[in-house]
Amino acid sequence: MASDLDYPPQQVESAITDRLVEVAKDWSLAHGLCVRPPPTVIPAQAHPGNILATPVPVTLFPSPFPESCFKQGLAVQRAYNELYASISQDEEFLTEMVKQIGNSDDFIQKLWDVHLRVKAEGYVQSISLGLFRSDYMVHQGSAASSPGIKQVEFNTIASSFGGLSSQTTALHKFLNKQEYGYLGRSSTSSSLNLPENTCTRGLAAGIREAFKVYGPSKSSNAIPKCVIFLTQGGERNIFDQRHLEYELQAQASDDRMPIFRLPFSEIGDRTSLTEGDKRVLQYRPPHRESDTYEVAVVYMRSGYGPDDYSGDSAWNDRYQIERSAAIKCPSVLTQIAGTKKVQQVLATPASADSEPPTLHRFLKPDAASNTKAVADIERTFTNIYPMDTSAAGQVARKIALDPQQCQSYVLKPQREGGGNNIYRSTIPEHLKKIPEKNWDAYILMEIITPPPVYNMILRNGKLEKGNVICELGVYGTCIWDQNKATAGGANAILWNESEGYLLRTKGDKSEEGGVAAGFGCMDSCALV
Ligand code: ADP
Ligand code: MG
Ligand code: MG
Repeated sequence: MASDLDYPPQQVESAITDRLVEVAKDWSLAHGLCVRPPPTVIPAQAHPGNILATPVPVTLFPSPFPESCFKQGLAVQRAYNELYASISQDEEFLTEMVKQIGNSDDFIQKLWDVHLRVKAEGYVQSISLGLFRSDYMVHQGSAASSPGIKQVEFNTIASSFGGLSSQTTALHKFLNKQEYGYLGRSSTSSSLNLPENTCTRGLAAGIREAFKVYGPSKSSNAIPKCVIFLTQGGERNIFDQRHLEYELQAQASDDRMPIFRLPFSEIGDRTSLTEGDKRVLQYRPPHRESDTYEVAVVYMRSGYGPDDYSGDSAWNDRYQIERSAAIKCPSVLTQIAGTKKVQQVLATPASADSEPPTLHRFLKPDAASNTKAVADIERTFTNIYPMDTSAAGQVARKIALDPQQCQSYVLKPQREGGGNNIYRSTIPEHLKKIPEKNWDAYILMEIITPPPVYNMILRNGKLEKGNVICELGVYGTCIWDQNKATAGGANAILWNESEGYLLRTKGDKSEEGGVAAGFGCMDSCALV
């Protein structure tokens, strides 16, 4: 795209934006770029049959995004998949991580207890599925250096928005193709570089492969196999999940793959384990009580935060899933591998020159193929500190309590799903409210400040105009077999793919960017 173009345009006739809004709204509804309406927009009692959908907030224009950064994110994903597959298999390392945060974090401790219970009786499934998403922001160092991406976090559970992201790219491509094009001039619109986005297809391919590697039915009466999407009650982001489900069905056209949505709270009612040492997970759908399916894959879109675990029986339900023969996405170990604590430990340089960085424990730099992978991964790290009583932790505690220095940091607990972090000037007061002995459950991370770009966000039918910042997510799928592991774990990998991306955008003054949490919006990349 020529740099002298005013893109995204700041001075657009209202007739053109009106037209784009009109098209975007209807295209979104027609193609399932939707969520259930937030109760603040339409109260649930106004649509008792739960029949309504509303367009997801989107940018009107695909945001300009540096092509080199986009390529950097895609290129490093398979190395990240391998890294997290390897961490998930390293129980000794994860034990140490849990020890460091567990005493101060009841949720992580309870998760770990599930693993310990299953370990005591022996796991019956050695294969795991990871549907990952690594999130980044663009970091511009000195003016002379070229920009690079820095990792915000790595998600190993319920990595969402793949289904909606493919649709967002399609919407932006559609708008761009129209004669009323982005600049109101069809001659320039074709010059936008809008990359393909195949994340729905890629995520579905990962689940499909896991379904295959599970093998034939293990039940004595060979009942049909199925995939379970383990969901949250009242999920508003359901169409994101439906796109994935429909894609899976489409890919499985010649080979039946029943898919059921099971609310986490109904695990106890709807599933059971077979007697004996196979521990096959069986599922009975509510619409045909007499039918039984053997669950080959459990894909979790719930269970990542304390709110899903209402009490001991919910923890027992998670235990039932974990000890079963189903392939879990993710297993408890993989979920723990995705904690911010693990990210911090990976990003923290070795304390003594003689010690190798933690990253080398998982990707040995002596293997030729790993040297580049290690360097590529390290390039995405930014400064993250522990909040414990180690030397690095003491430095972090000073920064966190200092009213000036804390302005450049975000404090994160071991939580997922958005809305849990503490930003900048609010860090000291937050810390003062919790006992110092529990501070080690947090990590302190430098805030990445990507260059803002101008755009317009279409939210609830209205346009918000101004500067925005973008967060790039790259999806990866990985399947590994713990029983095939050798030192380094690489041999255990049965499947390792990177396909598709997510771009989420928010106002440049907003702290959080979660679309589901209501802060950000969907976007796609116009590579520059
Ligand atoms: P969660 O697992 O809840 O999504 P994240 O670590 O992704 O937690 O943080 C939520 C949001 O906060 C991110 O999407 C991003 O917008 C913002 N954020 C988190 N860490 C940083 C950071 N280091 N620099 C800038 N923004 C950040
Ligand atoms: Mg996040
Ligand atoms: Mg997360």
